[in-house]
Amino acid sequence: MFTVTFQDLNLNTPLNNAIEDLGFVNPTPIQAKAFNVVASGKDMVGIAQTGTGKTFAYMLPILRHLKYSRQENPRVLVLVPTRELVVQVVNEIEKLSKYINNRVLGVYGGTNINTQKQAIAQGQDIIVATPGRLYDLAVSRVLQLKSIQKLVIDEVDVMLDLGFRHQLMNIFDILPERRQNIMFSATMTKDVDELISDFFINPNKISIAVSGTPLENISQERYDVPNFYTKVNLLEHLLRDDETFSRVLIFVAYKKMADRLFDKLEELFPGQSCVIHSNKTQNYRLRSIEQFSDGEHRLLVATDVMARGLDIDDVTHVINFDTPDYPENYMHRIGRTGRAEKKGHALLFSTEKEQEAREDLESLMQMQIPLVEFPEEVIISTELIEEERPQIKERNNPTKRRTEDIPGPAFHEKKEKNKKVNLGGSYRREMAKKYKKPKTRGDKNANKRNKRRR
Ligand code: AMP
Repeated sequence: MFTVTFQDLNLNTPLNNAIEDLGFVNPTPIQAKAFNVVASGKDMVGIAQTGTGKTFAYMLPILRHLKYSRQENPRVLVLVPTRELVVQVVNEIEKLSKYINNRVLGVYGGTNINTQKQAIAQGQDIIVATPGRLYDLAVSRVLQLKSIQKLVIDEVDVMLDLGFRHQLMNIFDILPERRQNIMFSATMTKDVDELISDFFINPNKISIAVSGTPLENISQERYDVPNFYTKVNLLEHLLRDDETFSRVLIFVAYKKMADRLFDKLEELFPGQSCVIHSNKTQNYRLRSIEQFSDGEHRLLVATDVMARGLDIDDVTHVINFDTPDYPENYMHRIGRTGRAEKKGHALLFSTEKEQEAREDLESLMQMQIPLVEFPEEVIISTELIEEERPQIKERNNPTKRRTEDIPGPAFHEKKEKNKKVNLGGSYRREMAKKYKKPKTRGDKNANKRNKRRR
């Protein structure tokens, strides 16, 4: 197989020396693939997980072409979801910059903003930041973003999952329009897809192809299940065998579903399950993972994005409670079982609506997952959750009237009123009805005036 070497990347001496010091032999696949795309200045989307060398995948070409400058305003902005990642990325950039004269600064929330302002005022080339703090600094006008030429968004899936979309939009608004966008994501999600199509110009998509060949030691089976509650019934039926299903990772597509399923499992198997998704605090997530990996709890419900960094051994079963829209996510999910050459099992639940996604992932694997007959003793529920009830798709219908445009009662009242014959002089008639006679003699002049009017 053809291997790309660092020589092929045409790096300069300072970078080559730094890499030699680090002891790296060859670029990783994502580094080899991303280098020319990033160097060309085109927008790029990279699908790669932590540990693949993705930080250097964007930093090597950026540093290769970043010219020495004494200007104060930064030219490269790297956005990451957490402060830990800010520290890590700054660290990596510093390692690569050992023989380069550039200025790198990491900024994140929860620390003194004034210290960061002072550091910015000294002039920087590269800023690595979490979105919230970056925006605060930009609004305070200490940090000028007008010279940013390259925007890197790392772990964009986590960022969107944590609810940073709005903050990203705000930042996009104050960045120069002419810039290169580079984005990395470990998982493909609908949110990520949407962000790409809204803000990227014809991006070059590169990914280190997830192997479409599942490990041989993972057995796969699938069930056709009509809806959520029947999936719960089937799950209950399977999980009752706690000897076979002794450490089970259950995947769901989104947070709400994770919570919903976790609640159900708590009812059915009290004290045996835990859940992780991005709305849970870091501490909660860590505790859940700990409880699951040390065997205290045998069931863990997780979303795709949050399960990405999981490193847990001896998972007996991966249950795909839903069928992932992106076939790559299925490969990542099932790769959590059957580790270290142990036998692993993967089960897939699919509703009628999910059959297309199921066919997609089967064609990625070039195999068909054997269908297991639905167990007779499992009750088929007809109850539907909110998302399953038939919905009339009305989005993007420009001719549709919004509710506030629909004529309400005021319209009819007016119609009624319009039908009335206008008798004129309504004020006088009202007064006449009310004051047939002056109640008191009162002010003579006023009475005279009233008389004249009448
Ligand atoms: P990342 O995916 O960026 O978090 O990187 C994962 C780890 O791989 C980091 O500790 C890097 O220092 C290391 N790394 C990056 N590129 C290479 C390479 N070409 N060869 C060996 N290790 C690397």
